[in-house]
Amino acid sequence: MRLFGLTGGIASGKSTVAAVFRAEGVPVIDADEVAREVVMPGEPALEAIVAAFGPDVLLADGTLDRKRVGALVFDDASLRAKLNAIVHPAIAARSAAHFARLEAEPLVCYDAALLVERGMADAFRPLVVVAAPRDLQRARLVARDGLTESEAEARLDAQAPVEAKIAAADLVIHNDQDPTTLKERAHAALAEVRRRLLT
Ligand code: ADP
Repeated sequence: MRLFGLTGGIASGKSTVAAVFRAEGVPVIDADEVAREVVMPGEPALEAIVAAFGPDVLLADGTLDRKRVGALVFDDASLRAKLNAIVHPAIAARSAAHFARLEAEPLVCYDAALLVERGMADAFRPLVVVAAPRDLQRARLVARDGLTESEAEARLDAQAPVEAKIAAADLVIHNDQDPTTLKERAHAALAEVRRRLLT
């Protein structure tokens, strides 16, 4: 089994590209989904979070109050480090378990928004980066998530600039046209990944 990576900024078109890969029969492990899995009730990471942050981080149904945790760590770097020290190893271990489960597949994609920021690019080559012009990302955030222009700007500012991701990329999909063009480019990028890894 060969692994490759997919990343890109918020509202860059990454989910659209992942959907094309899945439609072509490539299993895609979504790091966001894994991050939600490892804090489900009964998971050791959830118990560790409650031990570190107190029972107030749980909702009445025993699930993690993600908004509350987000607010707690937002402007406190040491709390954020504490949370990451619990969650990141759990995500890495669970992702590895997913890869092991898919061992019979020829090709598996790891889709993670922060792959470059977390220094994981070299483990997932070729790395495919979806890059959209910033004004288009902002417009999509407004249209899709109902954010105001300035809220959308703040979300974009909180991420590594697309140039940093492009610098780490092996293949760049520019999402600067219509969705049909994006999908065509996604098919072409996957063909190139297959060429590099499977031939
Ligand atoms: P991401 O996963 O990077 O956040 P998505 O693939 O969900 O991004 O795309 C964000 C939104 O923008 C979606 O509603 C998608 O349909 C739309 N979108 C993506 N690419 C284009 C494009 N080239 N033109 C118009 N809308 C697009």
